[in-house]
Amino acid sequence: MVTSTAAEAALDRLIRDVDDPELPHVTIGDLGIVRSVDIAGDRAIVVLTPTYSGCPATEQIRDDVAAAVIDAGFVADVRIALHPAWSTDWISDRGRERLRAAGITPPPPAPEPGTVPVDLPVPCPRCGSRRTRLVSRFGATACKASYVCNTCTEPFEAFKAL
Ligand SMILES: [Zn+2]
Repeated sequence: MVTSTAAEAALDRLIRDVDDPELPHVTIGDLGIVRSVDIAGDRAIVVLTPTYSGCPATEQIRDDVAAAVIDAGFVADVRIALHPAWSTDWISDRGRERLRAAGITPPPPAPEPGTVPVDLPVPCPRCGSRRTRLVSRFGATACKASYVCNTCTEPFEAFKAL
């Protein structure tokens, strides 16, 4: 049975509001990487599932979450859960809007099991055109790829689907 106290709910909100270090205006709650927040005595146990394994932001996020927990007056016990693996489907609608506003095309929905994804061109986050071209599979971070829009000629980044 899951019991959730008001203190846990408040701490949960606080942690979901921690900014992603690489994505401006996008919180880790928006990305769907906070699995659980539990208070046990003076400890706060936070379980996170990192976005892409090997994403260097994971260490930074862990430190930022620990700092938020300590600021709230608890001993930080931050754990990483790798199973089930994070999926881009866990990004909230608000997170997708914020990515688009930051000039980053949000990932498409993950393909249904047993289906083969068709590689539709990635839409430009600025003008919506699908006349876009992949420049590099690796953008500023391993989580994103670099594109250029043939319609408005602006370069942009897109979150890779996973
Ligand atoms: Zn464009």
